[in-house]
Amino acid sequence: MDYNSYMARRRLQESCPICYMNRIFCICDAIPMLTLKTRVCLVVHTNELKKSSNTGRLALRALTNSEMRVRGELGETLDLSDLLSERYRTFLFYPSKDAVELSGDLLRQDARPIQLIVPDGSWRQAGKMLYRHPELKDVPRVKLDAANAPKYYLRAQHRPEGMATLQAIAHALGAIEGTAVETALMKLYDAKIERTLTAKGILHPSALAKRPTAV
Ligand SMILES: [Zn+2]
Repeated sequence: MDYNSYMARRRLQESCPICYMNRIFCICDAIPMLTLKTRVCLVVHTNELKKSSNTGRLALRALTNSEMRVRGELGETLDLSDLLSERYRTFLFYPSKDAVELSGDLLRQDARPIQLIVPDGSWRQAGKMLYRHPELKDVPRVKLDAANAPKYYLRAQHRPEGMATLQAIAHALGAIEGTAVETALMKLYDAKIERTLTAKGILHPSALAKRPTAV
């Protein structure tokens, strides 16, 4: 193989720096650009970011009013107290026993925009996160009211609701911002699932013919 073909092949094996999929299965064309009143802050463990199955950071790519805070960096303590601004009505998206449903009644109680703090990762990791951030102890917990059953699973260990983070964020923003936002994020989620399964040889590439398009 000559050098140019070798380099071309190498490039195809690389991951896309934006969606982290293999370049052949890049899903960037399915990433919408959503500028919302609701702010999303994803709190993610550094180990979670190494997983190709992570969907939380994909949600952040789609949401201009969002940020990521990374936990578990060696020698660093993450303080989230600066997130608790009066400008936003802040909720922690975690289905603990005392969590309230993200319902119309709850949303109508306060006119301020909402900030959702979303612990990324499994139930165990999310529980650990809450334990390690006493500054969040008075932040009201919210959960989804009725979750749709996911089509496929990316991996066995899921968020507490049994969903991937992107899917959970899609449903939560659907409740707060409306169904158009939910649909756009779910198209991205479906693209991630479909292309991941195609890359693994589980789905036939012809299934990608009707590629979702960004809004
Ligand atoms: Zn990409």
